Amino acid sequence: MRVLKFGGTSLLDAGRVRTAVDVVREAAGEGSVAVVVSAMGGVTDALAAAADDAARSDQNETEACREIERRHREVLLELAPPGEVEALLVGIDAQMRELVGLMQGVSLVRECTSRTRDEILSFGERLSAVVVAAALRRGGLAAEACDARRIVVTDDRFGAARVDEEATRRRICRHFETYRDLQVVTGFIGATSGGRTTTLGRGGSDLTAAILGSALDAEAIEIWTDVDGVMSADPRLVPDAFPLESVSYEELMELSHFGAKVVYPPTIHPARARGIPLRIRNTRRPTLPGTAVVRGKIVRDQPVCGISSINRVALLRLEGDGMVGVPGIAARLFSALARSDASVVLISQASSEHSICFAVRPETVDAAREEIRREFALEQQVGLIDDLIVEDDLSVVAAVGEGMRERPGVAGQVFRVLGSEGVNVRAIAQGSSERNISLVVAAADEKRALNAIHAAFFAPGAAAASRLPAPPRQAARDEPAQVFIIGAGQVGGALVDQILRLFPGGPGGVGLAAGEEAVRRGLRVAGIARRQHLLLDSDGLGDGWRDRLEAAGRAGEGEPAEGLVSAVE
Ligand code: ASP
Ligand code: MG
Repeated sequence: MRVLKFGGTSLLDAGRVRTAVDVVREAAGEGSVAVVVSAMGGVTDALAAAADDAARSDQNETEACREIERRHREVLLELAPPGEVEALLVGIDAQMRELVGLMQGVSLVRECTSRTRDEILSFGERLSAVVVAAALRRGGLAAEACDARRIVVTDDRFGAARVDEEATRRRICRHFETYRDLQVVTGFIGATSGGRTTTLGRGGSDLTAAILGSALDAEAIEIWTDVDGVMSADPRLVPDAFPLESVSYEELMELSHFGAKVVYPPTIHPARARGIPLRIRNTRRPTLPGTAVVRGKIVRDQPVCGISSINRVALLRLEGDGMVGVPGIAARLFSALARSDASVVLISQASSEHSICFAVRPETVDAAREEIRREFALEQQVGLIDDLIVEDDLSVVAAVGEGMRERPGVAGQVFRVLGSEGVNVRAIAQGSSERNISLVVAAADEKRALNAIHAAFFAPGAAAASRLPAPPRQAARDEPAQVFIIGAGQVGGALVDQILRLFPGGPGGVGLAAGEEAVRRGLRVAGIARRQHLLLDSDGLGDGWRDRLEAAGRAGEGEPAEGLVSAVE
């Protein structure tokens, strides 16, 4: 069993859905599959905005619902089995009435509770699953939509519900034993044991796929998205970034916390716990292998697999003579931070113990400062601990890679390049996992730091081992282009003869031609197919092609030619 998850960008419109259907069909030809879908691209955002509008009684929400309805209808009309369209549209209509009813309720009470919001957001996936299942049926697969609220059991933290893994596992197994058709499962949503709709957090469809894959002991969980894989850096910041062939779960975890948001980070846990490989694939370029996320250490030429960053952090420093050698200070500091709900991005304490420094998101600084002041009020009164020092406008840049473990010189290399770029490092952190070296730099230096470190580790050639396999060899400049002709009746046959006339010299011959490219390279007829006959010869076919084709059986004769470039007729 493989679990294929399609994100919103892979389901943007009928064209994209059709591509997704092709991907599923191909996978289903190789073994059993289950599909998980996000809402169509932009729909969750539109629903959230509409809910906000409704709560403000702006009355834009009906317009937004109509647009969502239009998009789903359009795909159904184009891709659903013709005989089913009417019934499916009735179903969409019923869902939309329910949604509009909810919006009106919100508009009346002028507030949208997190519970109602989850109910509203759930429509994105509920609609897309119906549409995708229909498109798969049109594509010849026995597929049906599955509302994940039947199988994903969560607590009632609306907006970021936690999955009850055991209960969910049982339900998934029972469901898949009962329903044998290809299941198109709504990502992102679940329900409490009492049946209340919940959502797993924005981006949560990935997690649904991982939970499903884990419960069904899948051989792979494939996240089909709109990028080529996990990149060595954010390509918007680092133009030289390239997709990684493979990363470990731990590396992905490090990278995904640092802005490389290819997958929703909680997704990694269920996959890793069962050792199920995750694959990140690009729906728009399905022939690319994508990135494989696997267990264990990956052998690469260089110690680093990716460089990432968190922009906008604040660095806080607590220092004072009363901290040296006193146990419990760090515990009290971090408890205070926890009470203030500030998540700590990075921590560093020098062994003098005179100061502890840590980074948090700027929006949590005020609350953190307040709690810390309260916690250390006594020490501060008597001057044992100084006032908290806050520095703003900073970024964290991190080099990530399993290969940095027990390998000397990596940190040295990082600091050397930053030094020669004139980037000042404000704080440093590296845990003993040695998988991540994090540096705090001025936000204005972030891009420069990323590019400098990236260039240091992935100088052209140095990165070969972690890059994707090279694209198939381009035909040598002087080698003729190989042509494959399908249909060799009157017209096709004449075309073959014409090509052979223009490019004399028998098999493999090169000569004159009409087109510019062809003039340079020449053409070679490397294959001809006609009704039940198939003839292939990468050395090129000559004048006797008619007899050879006639003699060639159904299965074809000869070796398949390499790098066929054109199909004609
Ligand atoms: N549709 C949800 C979102 O946009 C879940 C997902 O796409 O993973 O956040
Ligand atoms: Mg996503």
